Amino acid sequence: MDIAAFRHRLLHWYDSNRRTLPWRALKGQKPNPYHVLLSEIMLQQTTVATVIAYFERFIGQWPTLEAMAKASLDDVLVAWQGLGYYSRARNLHKALGQLADLPSFPQTPDDLRKLPGVGDYTAKAIASIAFDQPVVPVDGNVIRVVARVFGLTQALPMLKKTVAEKALLLAADDRPGDFAQSLMDLGSMICRPQQPRCDRCPLRSLCKGYEDSLQHTLPIKAVKPPKPTRYGCAFLTMNKQGQIWLRRRPEKGLLGGMIEVPGTAWAEQPTELVHDGLWRGIVKHTFTHFHLNLSVYETTKDPEEILGFPTGFWADTKALDQQALPTVMKKVLAFLRPET
Ligand code: SF4
Repeated sequence: MDIAAFRHRLLHWYDSNRRTLPWRALKGQKPNPYHVLLSEIMLQQTTVATVIAYFERFIGQWPTLEAMAKASLDDVLVAWQGLGYYSRARNLHKALGQLADLPSFPQTPDDLRKLPGVGDYTAKAIASIAFDQPVVPVDGNVIRVVARVFGLTQALPMLKKTVAEKALLLAADDRPGDFAQSLMDLGSMICRPQQPRCDRCPLRSLCKGYEDSLQHTLPIKAVKPPKPTRYGCAFLTMNKQGQIWLRRRPEKGLLGGMIEVPGTAWAEQPTELVHDGLWRGIVKHTFTHFHLNLSVYETTKDPEEILGFPTGFWADTKALDQQALPTVMKKVLAFLRPET
């Protein structure tokens, strides 16, 4: 592989085809590390198209790192609603608190990795994009492009290690931030998961995958076991003032620190009902590792009487948008009667 030609062609293509994204510095401008960090945390597990609106809203609400560091975790979780993977929001809030106390923004992957929620990929993405450190972050786009260009027929997850080795060969001091983003853009716009646009690709004459007609086959995915289904019950408990009983989930674990409608634990077998509420329906929701079927019941009983849910608070049903509710709980609350 002619690495110099790879880099040169990709950067040349990037100069006239780069995506305009709200967190990206315009040509000739210096990137804002806070914008890069915020966008990279949001982009973990979420598409660019979805992140754009959230990023703009966050920057509108907290224009500087210091402003967001001072925000309450609840405000951040409320703003994060709908993005999912809420541990990202908690870690982001913690990381910004630490950054606000540092004399300067860390610049190397090693220093950036010390921040909560910043793993190897995110550290390298921030280091290269915000500080032009000569590293290549390896995400799904980069795995796909590198696997195809180098014709790597190993299956994931082992493939990732080989791609990381190739990424070391590709890293260089010449425009590291642009190079990292050019790989991301090529993966998103040209070397797409389905229907790669090889006819428009600046790397085509270097591409082993194209030469071997493997562009539709690579990268070879790992065989995933089927997702299990878990079951539980959720209780819409109302008082005479039309308020609903909610509680906060434990800080650690799935949806940590978020607000929920109380319910049973989520078990591998359908939950045997030990409460005589009025059945309202079933909510189906899919998390990364399992599907969830939640039976929703309505009750006017005192919360202390229901399955031992004494810890919680009454919330105004007209102001539920101020609660840090994950999507699955919004689905449960959709069963509230319109008059409540
Ligand atoms: S030639 Fe096709 S498979 Fe190869 S890098 Fe370009 S788009 Fe991807």
